[in-house]
Amino acid sequence: MKRLPRVLIVEDEPAIAELIAVNLRHNGFSPIWSEDGDSAQRELDAILPDVILLDWMLPGQSGLALARKWRADSRTKPIPILMLTARGDEPDKVAGLDAGADDYITKPFSTQELLARIRAVLRRRAPEQLSDSVSIGVLTLDAATHRVTCQEQPVKVGPTEFKLLHYLMKHPERVHSRSQLLDKVWGDHVFIEERTVDVHVKRLREALGMAGAMVETVRGAGYRLTAQPKALLQA
Ligand code: CA
Repeated sequence: MKRLPRVLIVEDEPAIAELIAVNLRHNGFSPIWSEDGDSAQRELDAILPDVILLDWMLPGQSGLALARKWRADSRTKPIPILMLTARGDEPDKVAGLDAGADDYITKPFSTQELLARIRAVLRRRAPEQLSDSVSIGVLTLDAATHRVTCQEQPVKVGPTEFKLLHYLMKHPERVHSRSQLLDKVWGDHVFIEERTVDVHVKRLREALGMAGAMVETVRGAGYRLTAQPKALLQA
């Protein structure tokens, strides 16, 4: 059976927490409730949730301080945080996003809105699944065996370059912006700079040797994998 996504609700008002928990349970999630930062930390130390719903105004450490703390911790860093703020607190929202929240939702909110936001952050965090084999031009990539070949010769690429190449090969002849690649290959572009993409594209090209020209830079737009690179046609 598929595991239900765990949602840690950090909210000091029992009525609100209960309402959220009931709705989540009815919609295929497994909610856990903590009423303050300390008990939330104990939950996180025990089992990592898939999403954290974090209230802004909490007794003790504020939601903002908690978001910062969990973002700075490598263990909790990948968990999406959805901040719950009061209506009209515009500066709060900005500060929350600055502190590392993935999104915010304003109270009072509808169940549908909450579920949509949770599903959206979960989707954004789920990297493209790697499961098949694909060939473009001289390149073949087999996801099952984690092998890349160029004209039947094995090519050694690092794990990130492999994922990047796989994505490009599955969507060839199309331009992908850096942020699209971060979204699809890294699964999260909130904490990674776009320049990271350039670094891995460079490494990928070097690893591919002659076939590296297939990974084209499209000025001002991003990258494209093509079976017929201009650089080779001109050579
Ligand atoms: Ca509160």
